[in-house]
Amino acid sequence: MHQASTISISELASVLYCPVKYYLDLSVPYEVSNTVHICKHIAFAEKAIDPEELWEELLFIHPEIEQMCKEQFMDYLMIYRRGFQQPWTERDLYVHSKKWDISGIIDKFDASTSQITLIRGAKAPQIGVYRADRLRAFAYSICLQEMVEQKIQLLCVIEYVASGVIRTLDFTPRDRRLFLETIKLARRIRGGYVPTRPSQAPCKHCRHEKSCTSLSGRRLSDIFRL
Ligand code: SF4
Repeated sequence: MHQASTISISELASVLYCPVKYYLDLSVPYEVSNTVHICKHIAFAEKAIDPEELWEELLFIHPEIEQMCKEQFMDYLMIYRRGFQQPWTERDLYVHSKKWDISGIIDKFDASTSQITLIRGAKAPQIGVYRADRLRAFAYSICLQEMVEQKIQLLCVIEYVASGVIRTLDFTPRDRRLFLETIKLARRIRGGYVPTRPSQAPCKHCRHEKSCTSLSGRRLSDIFRL
């Protein structure tokens, strides 16, 4: 059984995406996709660097990436170089909230403007920002506010690398409510609660499509010998 402990901000996004998937992922860890590695590498690249050199750097850092991904890499790089790259003074900034017992890593933080930037591998939605990305950004912002021990005006931006767009965020009470509901559900699931399948679950291409069909009102220990 998984004990309650610090929850990563990525986990919160996973609960929102599909609580059943989160539940199953606790026992079958997943790996970060090549697309995410590609997008992050591009988003931190110097503008003047040669694309071939950048590709070689990526392969050096992530030797598991196959040559067949090169076309995707070059496409994304061309889109990204339209000029929307967000600045940063710190990359991969670890943040933690004692109050909520959550932690995560902010992709980019610009101390001169107090701007948080998240780099996403998914294509951008037609308008706005995905709910899971709002949730991530909100969670990062409350961690950062707590760590600096003062109320600062944070700017939050999402870079959708594959679409070549950025979106900015303003938080509302709806974001706070969503955060509260999601963190409570994450803790319940960690405590053994088996979530029900959402009516509009994003099952297409989900790796758990077969195993989750049998989940209904059972406890974790009934399904996995933990
Ligand atoms: S198949 Fe659908 S309901 Fe099941 S875990 Fe995946 S997304 Fe969730």
